Amino acid sequence: MRFEVEIGGRRLVLKRGDITAEEVDAVVNSANPELTPGGGVSGAIHRRGGPAVTEEAARIRRERGRLKTGEAVITTGGNLPAKWVIHTVGPVWHGGKKGEPELLAKAYRSCLELAKSRSIKTIAFPSISTGVYGYPIDQAAGVALRTVREFLEADPGPVEEVHFVLFSEKDFEAYRAAWERIAG
Ligand code: ADP
Repeated sequence: MRFEVEIGGRRLVLKRGDITAEEVDAVVNSANPELTPGGGVSGAIHRRGGPAVTEEAARIRRERGRLKTGEAVITTGGNLPAKWVIHTVGPVWHGGKKGEPELLAKAYRSCLELAKSRSIKTIAFPSISTGVYGYPIDQAAGVALRTVREFLEADPGPVEEVHFVLFSEKDFEAYRAAWERIAG
């Protein structure tokens, strides 16, 4: 299950899978503000990345305090195939009138800007905020894909490929449909 499109000479890929197995320069973690492992995609990334990821995240937390919604930081990928993990905090869904779309777009943008500044060529995102944070996936997918498209159309620097690694067929179909809405 895979869908690819070219944007300004760069590649956007939607696929179904487990982001901890993704062979890219950087995978994005949907982190909590404390940068602790937690559950969901974050638990899986910390588990598979191992103590190097968890310890570096804890050190960053000690040095700079809690991560605000929409911010991003980078650590080693530890034992993951990816060299780096970019940790960002998406918004909790409170009904959509508390700035959720702007905050979600900011989280994606922060990761992409960090990737650009670190000469990262390939980056993979999970569906940020659509698990325990409760953001409706149809809406989140639209925000995510619009933000990535704008980034790729502007000046993506070294970034050549952006992947969305969706955990279920339903999530993949939601992103696929959102892309058709945006592109159509
Ligand atoms: P959030 O707090 O951002 O809502 P979650 O981890 O609860 O984070 O869920 C975000 C999304 O990540 C959900 O759609 C969930 O199904 C998905 N997910 C969970 N584990 C993985 C994984 N290993 N690879 C890719 N996506 C995953």
